[in-house]
Amino acid sequence: MRLTGWVIVAAAVVVLGLFFGFFRAALGVAMFAGILIFGWSYWRNVGNYPPEPDVADISDYGLKYVCTMCGLELKVEVAARDKAPRHCAEEMVLVRTGGTPPLHSV
Ligand SMILES: [Zn+2]
Repeated sequence: MRLTGWVIVAAAVVVLGLFFGFFRAALGVAMFAGILIFGWSYWRNVGNYPPEPDVADISDYGLKYVCTMCGLELKVEVAARDKAPRHCAEEMVLVRTGGTPPLHSV
């Protein structure tokens, strides 16, 4: 497989080199191979979905994210990751229902 690829590359350089010069032929073949390998790896990864994350139903915990800028509240039903969402260009604050939400008090 590897050897076949190098034979094809060498043949392409020789054939193209007869018409365009060997330096330009080698450069063109190298660029072609680079783009081909990049595109191949890209399209091969298109169908690979990331694995299903470990989720946990925490709707009974009464957790919610609060935006400290505008007061928007998002109830957390299922936790898949512990990274806070952003709102108003600020990270939202995780609070428990019943506690005092950290809203702006100006
Ligand atoms: Zn907001």
